[in-house]
Formats: sequence, structure tokens, C-alpha cells
Amino acid sequence: MALASALVLALALIAAPAGASSNKKLDPDQIGNRDVGKGLNFYSIEKEIALGKQMAQEVERDAKIIDDPVISEYVNRVGQNLVRNSDAKVPFTIKVVDSDEVNAFALPGGFFFVNTGLILRASSEAELAGVMAHEIAHVAARHGTRQASRGQMMNIASIPLIFMGGWAGYAVQQAAGLLVPMTFLKFSRGFEEEADLLGLEYMYKTGYDPTAFVDFFEKLQSLEKRKPGTMASVFSTHPPTASRIRDAQKHIQELVKPQAEYIVTTSDFDNVKSRLARLVNRRSLGDQKDANRPTLRRRPDGKIGDESDKSGVDPDERPTLKRRPE
Ligand code: ZN
Repeated sequence: MALASALVLALALIAAPAGASSNKKLDPDQIGNRDVGKGLNFYSIEKEIALGKQMAQEVERDAKIIDDPVISEYVNRVGQNLVRNSDAKVPFTIKVVDSDEVNAFALPGGFFFVNTGLILRASSEAELAGVMAHEIAHVAARHGTRQASRGQMMNIASIPLIFMGGWAGYAVQQAAGLLVPMTFLKFSRGFEEEADLLGLEYMYKTGYDPTAFVDFFEKLQSLEKRKPGTMASVFSTHPPTASRIRDAQKHIQELVKPQAEYIVTTSDFDNVKSRLARLVNRRSLGDQKDANRPTLRRRPDGKIGDESDKSGVDPDERPTLKRRPE
């Protein structure tokens, strides 16, 4: 009896509109004071962090993490700055993955991986920040565990009640068995739209030009048009569709108050991008010559990189500013 009514209640929660909280969701001034992660969820925050950590360890076992200090420090700095201007309630761990795929993915609990392909394909810090802000939004709104909870609801609905050890028992069992990561990476259309909206607000609040997010999407689309198939893997978990671009443009017009100046890019971004390009280039040359050759050469001071790059940090760190068109 109690279980049956809990099921009805939970199904009602899935279908329920966001209601009053959706107004706050449209107001960037409310960032941090609105519970964007609210919704049916079988996972406590602690359980969510533990689950994300477990999956992150698997990712790090399979993937190659870029350990160049200049690159990882920069990407972490850009990310943490966005996190501070977001609704996220968990600390973030941000790492750069050596992968040509133009993508980034954040696991539940704030374990965030940014592909080298994304950094190399972005033409400004704002473009990179736009994709990162979208990912941070998925974590802030707890999309991974909420989606997993929905999936479990659907499963539960079809499981004979006799096999069930209660809600908590079921969630623990699922977490222990490690769910298919795709459940946590490929989100429903509604969650993608929400992440677009929240991500644009986080960009804006951090001081970036939110239109960079749309520009990047459009650039990727036109690349795909010119060379069909070459970009097939791009944003496989977040395909940049025409409707998403339209919605994002609408959000920018409606929600974001005019701001005189935005950060478009920084000299740090340019430095990191060329440093990364050199690193990737040198590695592929090395691979051709001798597969056993080490991919990175460590200098006596422990830094990785060529000698011409004295510090990797430009003393002139002032961001490039773009005046907003009237
Ligand atoms: Zn997404």
C-alpha cells in the first residue's frame, strides 16, 4: 500500500512542472539562492559524490590525463571561476583528458573532465567557458542522479513488488553495481535545455559574453556541413541542434541584462592553446618515429614544455574586452 502510493507520488513528481522555482531559474541574480537540483532523486548528495568519484576513477584508469601544470592550472582556474558563479553545491575536481573529441563531461558530484579537442577547437576563452558552464549546470541541477532515479522508477514500475527491499535498498544496490555511465552522460532533452539556460547565466555572471556559446555551436554545425562525418563525434553527448541554438539565442535576449563589457578571451587562453597544440603535435611526430619514445620530456625543473616558453604565464593578463553592440 505505502509503496504503491509512494510510486504514484514519485510519478507525479516526474510529471510536475517546475512551478514557482522556474521564475527564479530565469533570474541570474538569484544564482546560488535557488534549489536548481530539486526533483525526484534517490541519491543523497553524499551518495552522489561517492558514485561520481567511483566513476571518475574508472575514467582516469582508461583515459590519459594531461599533467602539464600550465594547461591544467588554467583549465581548472577557468572552471572554478564558473563554479563560484553557479548554483553548484559540491566542490569540483577539473582535469584535462587527452582526446581529440570536441567534448567535456562532468560526472555527478563535480568530477569534471575537459577534452583537449575542445580546447584546441575553441577560438576564445568565452567559447571554452560556455561549454564548461553547460557541464557545471548539469552537476548543479543534479541531472545525472535525477535521470538515474527516473530510470529506476521506470524499472521499479515493472518489477514485481516482492523483489524489492524498499527505496533505499534499491538505490544502494544500483550504486554498488555501478550504472552504465551513459545514463549519467546522455541527458533528456529537457535536462539539456535546462543546462543551456543555466550555463548561459553562469557565463554571464562570470563576465563572459554568452553569445560565444551560440557562436561555438554554429561553428561546429557549419564544420559538420562542410565536411559531413568528420565531426560525427563532436558533442555526441550534447548534439548542437538548430532548436538548441534558437532557444539559447532567445534566452540571451530575454534573460541577460545588457552589460557594457564582456570577457571574450585572454592571453592565457592563447598561450595554453598553443602550448597544447605543440604538445599534441610533438606527441604525434614522436609516435610516428618511435612508438617507445616517451611522449613528454621533463625538464630538470620538473616542468614540461619547450625552452622558449619561459614561464607559460603572461604578465599582461588583462582580458580582451568587446563592446556590446547597441
Ligand atoms: Zn549537456
